[in-house]
Parts: sequence; C-alpha cells; structure tokens
Amino acid sequence: MRHTLEAYGYGEIRTPVFEETQLFVRSVGSETDIVQKEMYTFNDRRGRSLTLRPEGTASVVRAYLENHLGREAGVRRFYYLGPMFRYDRPQAGRFREFFQVGAEAIGSGDPEQDIEIIDLLSMLLHDLGLKDLEVEVNSVGHPGCRQAYESELRAALERERGKLCATCGTRIEGNPLRVFDCKNEACRGVMSRLPLLRNHLCDACETHHATVLAGLARLGIPHKENPMIVRGLDYYTRTAFEVHYPPLGAQSALGGGGRYDGLVEACGGPPTPAVGFSAGIERVLFALEQTSAEAPVEPPIVVLPLGDAARVPALELARELRAVAPTAVDLSGRSLKALLRSAGRGGAHVAVILGDKEMTRAEVTVRDLLAGEQETSPRTGVTAAVQALLQRHGGEA
Ligand code: AMP
Repeated sequence: MRHTLEAYGYGEIRTPVFEETQLFVRSVGSETDIVQKEMYTFNDRRGRSLTLRPEGTASVVRAYLENHLGREAGVRRFYYLGPMFRYDRPQAGRFREFFQVGAEAIGSGDPEQDIEIIDLLSMLLHDLGLKDLEVEVNSVGHPGCRQAYESELRAALERERGKLCATCGTRIEGNPLRVFDCKNEACRGVMSRLPLLRNHLCDACETHHATVLAGLARLGIPHKENPMIVRGLDYYTRTAFEVHYPPLGAQSALGGGGRYDGLVEACGGPPTPAVGFSAGIERVLFALEQTSAEAPVEPPIVVLPLGDAARVPALELARELRAVAPTAVDLSGRSLKALLRSAGRGGAHVAVILGDKEMTRAEVTVRDLLAGEQETSPRTGVTAAVQALLQRHGGEA
C-alpha cells in the first residue's frame, strides 16, 4: 500500500492516537453516530477531555493547520496508516480497534482531484490483487444545494414519522440527511420513497459531478451512481464515494471518502478545498482471504542452513541476496525435508541451501521450489543464479 501511495506522490503523515475531543465534535459533527455514541473519551490529569481518534481526516487537517503545511501554494498530498477506535458493536468485520489507511489531497477544488483520489483507492486495492470491486459515486452538493433540499426532505420524513426508528425521529429536526445512514430495516424501506439530494444539485455541482463521472469512465474505472451515499458529515461537499467488495456480505465496504471543502475552515483555517478517502485494513485482509489473491507474507527467497557451522554464514549470504529480492533465513534447525516443506508452503520461489558439503567447497545449492529442480552454484555466483531463476518465474527480481 505504501508503495502505491508513494507512487502517486502522497507522503506519510503520522498524527497522535488521541486529540482534544472538540476536534472530532467540530469536524466529524455533533449529530453523527461517531460523536454521539462511538468515541472513547477520557479526561487527562488536568481534566482536559481527550478522545482516541475515531477516524484520520480531522487529525490530518489539525496537523496541517498547526504546522502551517499550507504555507506553500498548491496541493498537499498526505497518507496515513494506523489504528482507529470506535465504540461500535463488535461483529464480523467491525471492531472497536481497527486499522485504516487513508489519503488526503488538500488545496484543490477541482473534479480531477476527486478522480485521482478514487483512482488511487481503486489502484491500491487492485495492486493487492482484489478484483470485482464496486465503486459507487454520488454528489452531496454544496451547503446551498442542501438547504433547499433539506426542507423538502423534512416534509417527506414528517409524513413517514410513524414508520421511522426513534433515532431517525429525532434526526428529522437536527440533521435529516443522516436518516440515509440508518441500518434499521423499516427506515431503509422509507428511504426508497424520499426525495434525493442528487436531484437538487445546483448547476456548478452538477457540472462537477458530471466531470468526475466522465473522468472515471476515461480511466476505465468501473463505477455506478448510488444516490443513497450521503456520508452524513456536515462538511462533506460534492463528491462522495464508497468501494465495496460484495462477497463480504453485510460489511462489504472496504473504503470510502469524498470532498470536504468546508472542513479546513471549520477547524479554524482559511477556506481550503480538499478530498480524501479511508479504507479498513482488516476488511481488505478479509477480502484477500476470500480470493485466490494471496496476501504477500513470505519473501521469494529463503536461505536454509544445515548444521551449526552454516548458520552465521547463512545470515551473511542472505544479506547479499536481499539485493535481488526480500530474503528470509530459516534458523529452526530442522531436517532439510522439513525446511523445504515450510519454504514451499510459505510461498518462496527459491531456496538457497548451505550445508557442510557446500561450505567446504565454497558452493551453494540453488533450488527452484516451483519446478522442484536444483543445481549447484559457486558461492560467488549465487546472486546471479538466483536472479536468473526469479526472472524466469516472472518478476520479483
Ligand atoms: P468510515 O471512516 O466510517 O468511512 O470507514 C471507512 C472504512 O473503514 C470502512 O469502509 C471500513 O472498511 C472500515 N471501518 C469502519 N469502521 C470499522 C470498524 N468498526 N471495524 C473495522 N473496520 C471499520
């Protein structure tokens, strides 16, 4: 993931695991489930209220402002990777501590930046070997579009009040859009009859949205429009999107994001447009488990020392081989048969065997684990021999 993010020119930012509670109340929004029910909040020794971060964007924006990272004109690109905390009901694919990877492009209001962010998320998942992803896109307009729409939505919700859950009943007044986030069956039934924000966009938001859709088509990113995606947060503007992996069932969302043109200003900065995404690492791993795509766990080369005298020389040999590709050393001291079996199961392509016989002759045995063939190579020519073998197998070197 780091490789792909950095290939797009995004640089890592590490923010603290906790922040002042008010940051999340202001940015995520006081009406959201996250702020109302899901935050791990505590007082420090001086009675200040702190919260374990439930998401990454607010912290990035805070750090961006505090460290004057917007000093230079242009777009700043960040990515983060780390634990998030939500007092959610634990279930398959939903944890109270989970990891997210996310990216933020701060400083551009253009639709092409939205296209890049969606491209980046889909490429990130694609590069891991995930296929058949569903990208769903919507526009939530700007606050002006929302104002006109909300009164119409309130009126429609009033008519259905009797069918809504208690929480959604209270949302009608506070923040009616959030009804679209409700998981309750009855509320979901009502949703299909509600007016859609998608049909209330102003001309500028409509053009922005059309440009995003055309750009995704041009880049060959399969996607569909889903007018139900609202990403309820108050500071989201225009583009909102999610990426799903349908075989995961109820928790099929691998990630999502959108444009948040109002957030930097709401956090005390100058008006600054921005767009980003976040994805759940555990969900991505579950998805990988369900495909034939294997999570890359073991390096392609493994060095197998036989006997005590070969152990330190094996470490030395591995240092050299790492110039070709990642290399592990199996120091478990088992029989050759057991070592080879583990190496094959671990997914290595080449085993380099170093035993007493090889040591005295200044040789090694290079074994092609995929073909089950082996040859002897002079110790000095081992990197070339391994490189040639890996190239024959298509690529790591
Ligand atoms: P969100 O920040 O709510 O938009 O979530 C972005 C992604 O993080 C989701 O699509 C999930 O993949 C993942 N995610 C969110 N909440 C959880 C959780 N409680 N446990 C595991 N993954 C989560």
